[in-house]
Amino acid sequence: MAAMKGLAKALAPRNGEVSQWMVHAGANQRTRPPLDGDETADVCVIGAGLTGLWAAYRILTQRPDAKVVVLEAEHVGYGASGRNDGWLCTTMSANPERLAAFAGPDAVVGFQRLMIESTSRILDILELEGIDADAQRSGHLSVARTQAALGRLKEEREHMVRWGYSPERVRLLDADQTRQRIAVRGAVGGLFDPDTAKVNPALMVLGLAKAVERLGARIFEGSRAIAIRPGRVAVATADHAHARRAATVASRQVLVCTEAYSGGIGGMPARRIVPVNSSIVMTARLDQDQWRRIGWDGAECFSDAAHVFTYAQRTPDGRIAIGGRGKAYRFASGTPGLGAVDRGTITALERRLREYFPALPERLIEHAWCGSIGVTRDWCAFVHYSPATGLGWAGGYAGHGVTSAFVAAHTLADRLCGLDSVYARAPWLGYRPPNWEPEPIRWLGIRGMYKLFAVADRHEETARAAKTSTLARVGSRLAGLG
Ligand SMILES: Cc1cc2nc3c(=O)[nH]c(=O)nc-3n(C[C@H](O)[C@H](O)[C@H](O)COP(=O)(O)OP(=O)(O)OC[C@H]3O[C@@H](n4cnc5c(N)ncnc54)[C@H](O)[C@@H]3O)c2cc1C
Repeated sequence: MAAMKGLAKALAPRNGEVSQWMVHAGANQRTRPPLDGDETADVCVIGAGLTGLWAAYRILTQRPDAKVVVLEAEHVGYGASGRNDGWLCTTMSANPERLAAFAGPDAVVGFQRLMIESTSRILDILELEGIDADAQRSGHLSVARTQAALGRLKEEREHMVRWGYSPERVRLLDADQTRQRIAVRGAVGGLFDPDTAKVNPALMVLGLAKAVERLGARIFEGSRAIAIRPGRVAVATADHAHARRAATVASRQVLVCTEAYSGGIGGMPARRIVPVNSSIVMTARLDQDQWRRIGWDGAECFSDAAHVFTYAQRTPDGRIAIGGRGKAYRFASGTPGLGAVDRGTITALERRLREYFPALPERLIEHAWCGSIGVTRDWCAFVHYSPATGLGWAGGYAGHGVTSAFVAAHTLADRLCGLDSVYARAPWLGYRPPNWEPEPIRWLGIRGMYKLFAVADRHEETARAAKTSTLARVGSRLAGLG
């Protein structure tokens, strides 16, 4: 029995520990000291993920003398920024129609173009700062495996072009063209966006933290903001021996960059953003022969156009990192700690992977982890900044946050610095999504929505449906996506 248990353990993938990316970079723990007593600053940034660090970076490149303090509850890259799949998405993290009703259609078209351009700006800054994050302009291939999904991709392309994508660049592919790029079993067509890029997320966020420190910011790890008021942040710190202390940062400007974690902080609205789960499993390295047999020669990011979002990256060191929702939501907006994933989700993602690529051997998963994406009630991200109180807040990127965090951080920073830039005029400034419902309605609603999507996918796949299932349409409306 003990031997069996030992064998099962040996075969089980590593689980949690923030992410494989962070473990591989040797960075899944604190390396910087916590805040040691009260502090003053010109700008206090809360959260050392991409939003907080890009905001600090932009402020310090505009105002090199500013005293910037970054408070991080755990360590740099502990949140979604160190756990994601590394796509620099071109998506705007908002429903364009909704945003247009708030800011006008021209502003939204300009905003979409800014998102696409921003992928290049990020790659340029990584190069400028010497941040080697394995960045690559890979493109994104969304694959339809049913006629219903293909119909949705056609509609999606029209929608993308209407709201700012170039019709020359975003292309529909037939089944052969799709399979030539990635030979997903059952592919009937695809949609290719060449402007998506990809990175190793841990190397990007860790490199950015160092760049920000070179510019003069101080990052305190193990320093959790527990209450935020204009001009003042109350902090609970934990040093390496876990001794807890209380401290205060007095700062005229405070930027809250805690995304999916925001609801748990005193003084912040608890129901504006909820943490929705996303889980990833990463395979062992595949050899050249295995890559050839599964037919994925290029570097494209890949997603399935089914209702339950599944996404994957071919990593520079020859693995597949494939993700999906898993258990979508924890009661009362719970967050996932170090990101351990339940066995059922690991099995389901592995099964998905082998459905796409049946030539893959079994028991290929080496590491699994999960994290939280921040979702607003209408799936539209927002940026708030009040010159009167000096308080800023951004989030709600709904799983498309790697580029959005860069743009939102620039909106925050440019407003704070009084710059009149394209970022400062971005239409999400001042957008106010509705609040989520209280519990238990929220828990029932989110779980119910993902159940409906899963049932709709099963129906479309088994019935080889030509049209999108009514269940999925109901789910989208309930979710606030439609
Ligand atoms: C599994 C997964 C896959 C994803 N894949 C992609 C992808 O491929 N492409 C894409 O565009 N997006 C993806 N995303 C989303 C993207 O990673 C996020 O939108 C983005 O990283 C958010 O960055 P952030 O800095 O706003 O938040 P985070 O990275 O979550 O940073 C917030 C930080 O605040 C800290 N914090 C929380 N509370 C406090 C407090 N009270 N005091 C101090 N600090 C605090 C946290 O520890 C954390 O470090 C994915 C997300 C997940 C979870």
